[in-house]
Amino acid sequence: MNADAIQRFFVTLRDANPQPASELEYSSVFELLAAVLLSAQATDVSVNKATRRLFPIANTPARIVALGVEGVEAHIRTIGLFRNKAKNLVATARILLEQHGGQVPRSREALEALPGVGRKTANVVLNVAWGEPTCAVDTHIFRVGNRTGLAPGRTPYEVEMKLLARIPAEFAKDAHHWLILHGRYVCQARKPRCQACAVADCCDFQPKTTAS
Ligand code: SF4
Repeated sequence: MNADAIQRFFVTLRDANPQPASELEYSSVFELLAAVLLSAQATDVSVNKATRRLFPIANTPARIVALGVEGVEAHIRTIGLFRNKAKNLVATARILLEQHGGQVPRSREALEALPGVGRKTANVVLNVAWGEPTCAVDTHIFRVGNRTGLAPGRTPYEVEMKLLARIPAEFAKDAHHWLILHGRYVCQARKPRCQACAVADCCDFQPKTTAS
């Protein structure tokens, strides 16, 4: 995908959805961090169902620590890997209390030092909470980046670096959401919906799929 196609690709996605947002439900930076931590290998829909049970009871580091691992588990057991996620969430909450005054830190280094928080989760928090132009490469973005020719790479990190280098600055803050939503609803894993794709003329993927 050349620079002209990349520009048209993002103009089209922006025109269709000028203010994209995360589909995870949250009302504070800590809730966002917790929801993203719980979302590894789980759908946003399943995480929202669990956090609708968990957050009314515990939505601050102090309340999560007070609830404890078993208490958290009881509210999130419908999500995959819930035991490990409960353990990480409580450990993360404890570190926030002990080292960050109960606040979610704004630096990548401090975020990635939290249990269960890797580069992808840190990127989401930096982008969604503070508007930083990061690009968290999840399964959807990895696929779209490779399939379209926008940011081919063998690893999520390679794709992320290409995206950061190739996405024009005016789209950098929202690109992460546009790419996830495009991958989730149009450029789907098993069969991309090329016949219904608004950016088909910018995309290198061949042959394009048809409705049949
Ligand atoms: S044309 Fe097809 S492969 Fe390309 S972005 Fe659209 S859905 Fe994905």
